[in-house]
Order: sequence, then C-alpha cells, then structure tokens
Amino acid sequence: MKQAILSAAFLLAVVHLSFAKAHFSNQAIGDKEKVFADSSLLQGEINPEMLTEVMNAIGLHQDIELKKANVLNIEASVSHGKRYVLYNPEFIAWISKLTKSKWAAMALLAHEVGHHLNGHTLKKGGSKPALELEADEFAGFILHRLGASLEESQEVMKYIARPEITNTHPARASRMLAIQSGWNRAIDNTATIAKGESLPLHINTGN
Ligand SMILES: [Zn+2]
Repeated sequence: MKQAILSAAFLLAVVHLSFAKAHFSNQAIGDKEKVFADSSLLQGEINPEMLTEVMNAIGLHQDIELKKANVLNIEASVSHGKRYVLYNPEFIAWISKLTKSKWAAMALLAHEVGHHLNGHTLKKGGSKPALELEADEFAGFILHRLGASLEESQEVMKYIARPEITNTHPARASRMLAIQSGWNRAIDNTATIAKGESLPLHINTGN
C-alpha cells in the first residue's frame, strides 16, 4: 500500500506521445545517415545540450531534467514539483535511424517542453488531442528558431502519428498543420522584431 502511494506520488502527471505501431527495426544505413553528425542519437542517447537549445530558443533557463526511463517513447512528467522529460533510448535510436537527422529528436523534445510550458502536466488525464496540438505548435515554433526547415520540423510525424484521430492524439494531418502554424508564427515574430514593432509594453522612464 505504501509503495502504491509512493508510486502514485512519483508520477503526478504524465503526458506522452503515442505513435503508430512502431517496430524497432534496424533500417539499412543510407548515405544521409553516414553524414548524420550526432551519432549519439543513433545509440538512443539524447545530449542534454539539445534540451538546453530548446529552452534557450525562448530565452528560458533550463530547469527540466532529461532522463532515460522505461517509458513507451517520450514523456513530460512532474514528480515532487520537478519537471522531467523521460525517454526510451530504443525509441530515440529508432526514430533517429529512420529520419537520419537530429530534428526528429529535437521536435520530440520541443513537443514535451511544450507540454510543460503550456501547463499540461499540471492537469489530470494525460494526453488529449487539443493539448497535443498545442505542444506540436510549440515544437514548430522552436524548430524554426533553431534553424529547421518546415519539412524537417514535420518529418517526425510521418513516423509517429497515426492517420486517424484517437482518444488521446490528433490525426497526423492535424499535427503537421499545428507544427506548420507554430513554424510560421516564428517567422512572423522575427519579421515583427526586425521591423521594430514588438513593443507591446511601455516602460515608464519617469520622463
Ligand atoms: Zn504529447
């Protein structure tokens, strides 16, 4: 009983990605993979620097702990007030081998950070389609800020999203549109800042 209470307390909230029947298979190594610089992803290891990059892209101090765990794929969770992104190394190796780039793992990380920053991990009930779209839009925004093309930002969905909506997750097409929306919003923000129009708050200088 005590153990049950402890484990319930440990996982206060978990939001995870579901993905279309993924088979962890060893794909043939192609030319693109040979030049895939971050080989640690191919071993299922996410460099914590990647999470720092995601947080830095929106000017936030990195205070989320990245941990390998026995989870289905990758999850945002809160335990004792601390925020985590938990990931399954086999899943990361699988998706990195398929996409042959770092952007899939980066999009997944950004998606989970999106759950944290949108407050989804504080809600009960886990994944819901509307929340997933918010996290996807956030991921699109971040990936643009980090220099990914729209195609690179969306590619992960070709492998992890189901074609049809489920109780927990939106259909693939909706998720790709949400990423596109966030990616485009990052362009709009950049354009606004470049034109010097992003001053919604007035600072009283006393003059
Ligand atoms: Zn999610």
